[in-house]
Amino acid sequence: MAKQQLAGKALAVIKANAYGHGAVHCAKALKNEADGFAVATLEEALQLREAGIADPILLLEGFFAAAELSVIVQHDLCLVVHAPWQVDILLAAKLARAVPVWLKMDSGMHRLGLSPHAYIKAYQQLKGHHNVASIVPMTHLANADNLSSGHTMQQLAVFQTTLADLPTAHASSVANSAAILAWPQLNQVINTKQHWSRPGIMLYGAHPIMQPVQPDLLEPVMHFSSRIIALRQLEKGDAIGYGSLFTADKAMRIGVVACGYADGYPRSAQTGTPIAVDGTMTRLLGCVSMDMLYVDLSDIPTAGLNSQVELWGKQVPANWVAQSAGTIAYELFCNVKRAHFDYFDPANI
Ligand SMILES: *Cc1c(COP(=O)(O)O)cnc(C)c1O
Repeated sequence: MAKQQLAGKALAVIKANAYGHGAVHCAKALKNEADGFAVATLEEALQLREAGIADPILLLEGFFAAAELSVIVQHDLCLVVHAPWQVDILLAAKLARAVPVWLKMDSGMHRLGLSPHAYIKAYQQLKGHHNVASIVPMTHLANADNLSSGHTMQQLAVFQTTLADLPTAHASSVANSAAILAWPQLNQVINTKQHWSRPGIMLYGAHPIMQPVQPDLLEPVMHFSSRIIALRQLEKGDAIGYGSLFTADKAMRIGVVACGYADGYPRSAQTGTPIAVDGTMTRLLGCVSMDMLYVDLSDIPTAGLNSQVELWGKQVPANWVAQSAGTIAYELFCNVKRAHFDYFDPANI
C-alpha cells in the first residue's frame, strides 16, 4: 500500500520479529513490495540473511560495538550512524568494503541522531570516505500520530534547513506509518522519488492513529484467537476470578477462554474490552489470568464449549484492546507468545 501511494522507495520495518508476526515469514511475504528491510539489531539482520533474504537490510541503531563492523560488511548490511562515537569508529575502522550509511539527524525527537550542528560536520567527514559507500540522510518523527501537534512540521523544517547546507545530499528518509497515512503536508518531501519511507505498524494492518480518519484503510494481518474451555452460570452477586473484580448484577452465563497474559493478552485490559465469540461481539469480564480470561456470553446463547474467540483481528481491532488496556497495538503484537502461528496466503483467505 505504501508503495502504491508514494513515489519513492520503502524499507519494510520488521524489527522485533516483525512486530511479533515472524520476521522471516514477513520478509518473504513482503519481498516483492519492499525495497529493503529495517531491523533493530545485528542478530535480527543475521536471522534474515540465514533465511536467504538477500535484499538490503538497514540496522536502525547501527552498531553497538566496533567489532560488529566486520560482520556488517561481511553480510552486506546498511548502517544507521546516529552518534559522534559511531562516526569516529567508522572513520578509523579497517573495512574490507565500504558500507552504505544512513546518517541520522536528531530533528527534535531527542532519541537517536546527531544534532544539526554535529550533523553537518559528520556528513562532511563521512562523504567520500573510503569506508562509506553512500549516505542517506534520515530522521524520525516523534509526534506524527498526533494530528494536532505542530512538532512534526517543526522537525521537518529542522531536517530540511540542515540539509540545505549540504547540497550533495539527494536521497532522504523521514516517514514512518503515521507520516505516510496521515500527513499530506509532508508530501513535498516523502512523496518524491528520492525518499525512502519506513512503514512499520501499517504493514501489519493496525493504524498508528487510535481514531483514524479512514479506519478501514488497512487490513489486520494478525488474528489472535483461542477457544472457550469452560462455562459458568453466575447468580446475581457472584464474583469471578482473582480479586473478584467483576460481580454479576443479574444471573448470567460466562465463558472461560484459554488465553491469558502469558500468551500476550494484556493483564491491564478492563472489564468491557471488546472480544468476539463465534463472530458476535461481546466483552471481557474481570481480571485476566496468566492462562485464561472471562467473556460475557449473556447475549450469545449459541456459544458453548470450544466456541471460537477472537481476542483481536478482523472483528476486534487491536487498537480497541490497546486503548482499553492503556497501551498501543505495537505492544500487543510484540507481546504475543506461546501461541501457535499459522500462516495463510492472503490470496486464499
Ligand atoms: C520502528 C521505526 C519505524 C516504523 O514506525 P511505525 O510507526 O511502526 O511505522 C520507522 N523508523 C524508525 C527509525 C523506527 O524505529
